[in-house]
Amino acid sequence: MDCAQAREWLVAWQDRELTSEQHRTVAAHLYACPACSEAERRLAEATPVPCLRASPALERRLWTQLDRTLQRARGRTAPLTRMPRTG
Ligand SMILES: [Zn+2]
Repeated sequence: MDCAQAREWLVAWQDRELTSEQHRTVAAHLYACPACSEAERRLAEATPVPCLRASPALERRLWTQLDRTLQRARGRTAPLTRMPRTG
């Protein structure tokens, strides 16, 4: 694999769209090639990781869980924010 091919595959690599064979090939090239390794790092900085992009619903759920965890940690029963009662 040459650098041009490696750069071409970098976006697919970041999106986890490569086959495991392609993944190994790119990984081997990045390991051996500082220039492409640097390009990969820059691309990673510019591209948000998909799994970190939470949907608004998921974000609310995470905040609710965090809220409950904090309440338990403080030994409180009163909610910090008004949440609709379920059940
Ligand atoms: Zn390279």
